[in-house]
Amino acid sequence: MSLSKVLLEAGLTTLSLQRSGEELLCTLSRDWDPDQDFSAYGRRWSSDQLVCREPRALGDSEARELLRSRGELSALEGLERGMRQGRHESFVMRRHAKLGVEVCHFIHSSALGRQNGFHALRAGGMRRHAETAPEAEVLADGLNLSRAMSFKCAAAGMPFGGSKSTLVAPHFGPDSLEHVGFIAYSIDAGQLMTGPDVGLAPELLDAFAQHSPHVLCGSSSPLGQAGGPTATGVLAALGRAAEHRFGIKSLAGRRVAIQGLGSVGLQLAVELARQGAHVIAADVDAARVALCRESVPALEAVQADSIVGCECDVFAPCALGGVLSAESIGRLRTSMVYGAANNQLAAATSEGELELAELLAARGILFQPDWTYTMGGILTGYEVYRKRDLSSFAAVRTEIERAAGDGTRDLLNEAAATGETPTRVALRWYSPLVYGSPE
Ligand code: NAD
Repeated sequence: MSLSKVLLEAGLTTLSLQRSGEELLCTLSRDWDPDQDFSAYGRRWSSDQLVCREPRALGDSEARELLRSRGELSALEGLERGMRQGRHESFVMRRHAKLGVEVCHFIHSSALGRQNGFHALRAGGMRRHAETAPEAEVLADGLNLSRAMSFKCAAAGMPFGGSKSTLVAPHFGPDSLEHVGFIAYSIDAGQLMTGPDVGLAPELLDAFAQHSPHVLCGSSSPLGQAGGPTATGVLAALGRAAEHRFGIKSLAGRRVAIQGLGSVGLQLAVELARQGAHVIAADVDAARVALCRESVPALEAVQADSIVGCECDVFAPCALGGVLSAESIGRLRTSMVYGAANNQLAAATSEGELELAELLAARGILFQPDWTYTMGGILTGYEVYRKRDLSSFAAVRTEIERAAGDGTRDLLNEAAATGETPTRVALRWYSPLVYGSPE
């Protein structure tokens, strides 16, 4: 069983958890009819026109009773625990019974977005999980990623709160208008702007964008996909960090170990090799290593399980999050950690992150939270959101250099001046913006 299956079996469509003071209130509802056709969504009707002939809504106590009777109250409580730990605002799960599609929105904070003048109050990408992924893992991942998005928007200087979306669905193509329309509806109803995250094919993103103006950075977007701008931000931060640590911005002659040669990791490898760095890399997908070698003939490929302990000057996590745990930090043989992966620290709270950051500092490893410099993609999305075909990458590049490059310089200078870790400084700077009060 799972929360999603309870919705299905009870003939309901939506589960939401909304913060009210210290409480989290749960609602279960039926918001559309089983035969609702979403295929023309965004073309012939909009999210405020959804009608339901037989709506239902269960308030908090009824909703909990239903979940208890199906043996799923503990799943809800697990989600609530995560939301309390991360200080999340709300959560919504929408499930389309006939299509078997589930879209969740993890809304961490709207504080920065409330007065922004846009329909979207929050920003954050959509991650697609395999249908076989355990629900608890999908929920934990979404909570963690959405918290980082609030901080990323704050560090980018963007007037948006942070959220993340997850998609779990059987295989479907961009021409399946029912799937595409339903997902576009869910995005619009969530008042967020979104873009790609791991697992979401660019052609699907392009299809969603045909039905929702809040979907950005697909392959047909005016500024293209987000991987390049994200790599630009990582490189801007890495240059400043190298200057701080080695006294010179260039990575020429340095050993850089990249974990994951996906859309960001591969571009980093190419650019760092161009600067004269010795690039070591691992990817679980041999085809990505082969593709990288076409542009970086001197690439030193290593097994995926040995990249973390590789001797290098820079370790660049560019695969999935949670790579820096107390155990793996002990295995690192590097001077700095700078990469694209979201949530590199294996922690679900700021307190947990601070502890791991202290461990890194105690080992003499320079580290700052990924969200302080991986905002290239989201800044690109924001440019396109505002200016559409008039968007300019030159303008975005200036913003990326300011936020990721100058931001890193200022952060590392402040940490050096106060003796704090850069993680502590970043949380001290940005928590008041994210929460409206210091964390
Ligand atoms: P991607 O899916 O294109 O690439 C990830 C790569 O990592 C894949 O090639 C995959 O095979 C590889 N991989 C997975 N597990 C691995 C492992 N254990 N060891 C080695 N390789 C492994 O993703 P991406 O868009 O390049 O993003 C990379 C990371 O950066 C993700 O954590 C993502 O959330 C984050 N990020 C991306 C963007 C963006 O604009 N694309 C923006 C901000 C943050």
